[in-house]
Amino acid sequence: MAKLHILHADMDAFFSAVEQRETPELKGKAVIIGGVNLSNRGVVSTASYEARKFGVHSAMPIAQAKKLCPKGVYLPARHSLYKETSQDIFKILKKYTPLVEKLSIDEAFLDVNGCERLYGDAVEIAAQIKEEVKRKTELTISVGVSVNKFLAKLASDFEKPDGLTVIRADDIKSFMYSLDINKIWGVGEVFAAKLAEEGVYKARDIWPYSLEELKDKFGKAGVKLFFLSRGMDNREVKSQGEIKSVSHEETFVDNISNQDKLFAYLFKMSEKVSFRLHSNSLKGTTIFIKVRYADFSTFSRQKSLKVAVNSSEEIYQTAKKLLANDNLLKKPLRLLGVGVSNLCQEGQEQLNLFAEADDQLDQTIDKLKRKYGFNKISRARKLYLNDD
Ligand SMILES: [Mg+2]
Repeated sequence: MAKLHILHADMDAFFSAVEQRETPELKGKAVIIGGVNLSNRGVVSTASYEARKFGVHSAMPIAQAKKLCPKGVYLPARHSLYKETSQDIFKILKKYTPLVEKLSIDEAFLDVNGCERLYGDAVEIAAQIKEEVKRKTELTISVGVSVNKFLAKLASDFEKPDGLTVIRADDIKSFMYSLDINKIWGVGEVFAAKLAEEGVYKARDIWPYSLEELKDKFGKAGVKLFFLSRGMDNREVKSQGEIKSVSHEETFVDNISNQDKLFAYLFKMSEKVSFRLHSNSLKGTTIFIKVRYADFSTFSRQKSLKVAVNSSEEIYQTAKKLLANDNLLKKPLRLLGVGVSNLCQEGQEQLNLFAEADDQLDQTIDKLKRKYGFNKISRARKLYLNDD
């Protein structure tokens, strides 16, 4: 559909903007939000635009930020306050369309197809959302409008803060022409370096390659690149209620029998599942695994927990036990998968006090991944694998 109907809405420097709103003396100042316990060993979670002028950005160690911006105001994160504000914002977004896909506490995709009669076209809706968010929360939100998710997200980033950018079907080619390759979804630092070896620096540098060539060179990632470099993306906006489970599986090039290696893969996949659950503010009570052997026989096992979880450590530990219990690793594996189902919205689950420490670690890792691309950050266990 080449019609403008997808919006990407993203709050500007969300945590620090909320703090500036709460304490008006902070307006116009360099405000840097760290973790719950603000310490020099932590990382920046949000920097106000004033602080960004000094080179401070999220995921930077606090100690380094203090060197760049010694006069900045450093504050610990107040998550319950941000969550409350986030709920106000999502209430506004959901007024315009039921199809709101939450990506994080301050970011969402909206599909406004069919909402025109009530609120006008997609661009008018974007303008109304900006106005209503400003009026009701005293905060600014940047909105991108386009024909698909990928372009809408690029658009919202284009004129931040307080931006409203539209990429129409006719603009796609010229927009993509000058786009740096690392702005393409899925192109992290490692992939970008690989592409640079081929002389690919801009989205347009992909255009001369055929789909088959890219597939041969880079596999699935190459196929994605073919389409995204042309601004093509057919992912649909999914509201939270539609997500029934989150899982990840991998088919190995060579069957694997080494248990340590399989556990390392399992951990990597648990992290991916955890990341997606966190991104959607979801938790789940059932952990499941899937294995496939060389003869294509396939088995799955699941375990239900008393409390909903979404930390990679809990997913990993439960999945690992499922694999060990039934001796499922006695033969080499062709495929391994892990997932979480029986999902609920975060905050609606029973409280599990012991899970908290793990949660915070995951949140920090999630943030770093968003900042630097998925493949760069890993905990020690994953370092066993170097194929990522
Ligand atoms: Mg944001």
